Amino acid sequence: VPEHGTVLDLFRASVARAPDADAIRYFDGRLTLAEVDAASDALAVALQDNGFRPGDRLGVYVQNNPAFVVAVVAAWKAGGAAVVINPMNKARELAHLLADSGATALLCLDELHDSVAREVIASGATRVSTVITCSARDWQTRDDPRVMPQARAGEALDLLDIVDRNAGREPVADPPSPDDVAVLTYTSGTTGQPKGAMNTHAVIAFNAQAFRDWMGLTPADSVLGVAPLFHITGLVGHFALSLLVPCPLVLTHRFQPEVVLDAIREHRPTFTVGAITAFIALSAVEGVSAEDFRSFRLIYSGGAPVPPAVNQQFQRTTGHYVHNAYGLTESTSITHLVPPGASAPVDPASGALSIGLPVFNTVVRILDDDGAEVPVGEVGEIAIAGPQVVPGYWGKPEATAAALPGGELRTGDVGFMDAEGWFYVVDRKKDMINAAGYKVWPREVEDVLYEHPAVLEAAVVGVPDPYRGETVKAFVALKPGASATADELVAHCKEQLAAYKYPRQVELVAELPKTPTGKILRRQLRDR
Ligand code: ATP
Repeated sequence: VPEHGTVLDLFRASVARAPDADAIRYFDGRLTLAEVDAASDALAVALQDNGFRPGDRLGVYVQNNPAFVVAVVAAWKAGGAAVVINPMNKARELAHLLADSGATALLCLDELHDSVAREVIASGATRVSTVITCSARDWQTRDDPRVMPQARAGEALDLLDIVDRNAGREPVADPPSPDDVAVLTYTSGTTGQPKGAMNTHAVIAFNAQAFRDWMGLTPADSVLGVAPLFHITGLVGHFALSLLVPCPLVLTHRFQPEVVLDAIREHRPTFTVGAITAFIALSAVEGVSAEDFRSFRLIYSGGAPVPPAVNQQFQRTTGHYVHNAYGLTESTSITHLVPPGASAPVDPASGALSIGLPVFNTVVRILDDDGAEVPVGEVGEIAIAGPQVVPGYWGKPEATAAALPGGELRTGDVGFMDAEGWFYVVDRKKDMINAAGYKVWPREVEDVLYEHPAVLEAAVVGVPDPYRGETVKAFVALKPGASATADELVAHCKEQLAAYKYPRQVELVAELPKTPTGKILRRQLRDR
């Protein structure tokens, strides 16, 4: 049960307890909790001076920068909410999110303002009237050329300027309530049109505390931000978590494996959570060794399945077992995790790693197509009720009723619970391949591909087939310097899988398409 009602309360309690503690480490720049407090006060005042009213939304369109943290806290202090926007979004997507959320103010990186946002605002398709820009260099004292800073935009308000000019002023607004929307997070779009999940203060506060308490994090820890802050994994498992503990959050603007590895060497973080693809990329950097990962106490992967072979390889390189965690945007990140120190059991039938046990106060049911609970061990749709489940999607009562009947989240994932209470995800309901009536779950085929020593990444989809209706196709990216032919990979799968499951086609590609969180976009591969 949350100790405090809102994330703003949790932040303020941390500031009161440890004002001089580092909140953010950004290259060689640092911000203390008191500095984040002061900067967010100044921004909140400037927003209010520019007409931002209680209940309004501030769009936040930046990478993993200190500005993100300052802006989200400022939106709350000004009585409103933040809409966190993927900086990879192009004009059409940005316009959609700003219009859908009704944001009236926008904070964006200078280069995104020049290349995308300026035109979107000028088009009049949104309600945005206040634009503030910031730079990748802000709060960084040593410029890192890999971060590619560019010239400032000129006409919009400038964040550091606002912070200077409004130093010492405090915003006046009623404090938010636990049930107020704190952040609108748009679903990542692996399945369709993005919808804004309403992450209230209560759901974020609960799950940040779930992370802290399950991981046993203390102010002696520090969190490495490998997931994007705009995604629910980063928003809760980096941003809210580090402000709550409180402990430093190490940020690197973007996820570039070499840059992140440098940050690990410099700041020695102890905890992180991110997509397994990020850990694959880190362990493939030239010269990486177990020594680089010595400061970590715990590494969690969330947001996508962890192929067991990848986990073993990561452990060989870094000395760390990747703990699995499971959750969705609509469940404000985690609902299940493998407790620290435990190794996840492996399903003997499919070879899949367990996603763990439900976190406290979370009720999980496995349902058949009619919505009835299935017996233990049987496969069905995972449905979740708990204090981290969002009340719905912003402005979309029909989509809310469909995904959250009676407040219980239908995840769209197919899985089961074993006799000891461990849960397993078989796959996404909509990714099932139907090959002449046989069900093939892409995950199982991908896990077999990952066992091949030359395979870096693999994704399996169903493609139309005149004879079977659908047939299994794999897209594979090989490790740098490794070689394997498509026929060899087909033969490798054929040895391990039933005849209806092994891929009939393997296409070698340089890289697999991914969401910014590092999830492989099977949908895009299918559309090819
Ligand atoms: P969209 O909702 O737009 O399709 P998305 O579902 O990828 O995007 P997220 O909320 O980021 O959006 O992801 C949640 C999904 O990620 C889950 O439904 C599940 O399919 C997958 N997932 C998360 N954690 C795990 C895990 N540990 N193992 C397997 N799959 C996972």
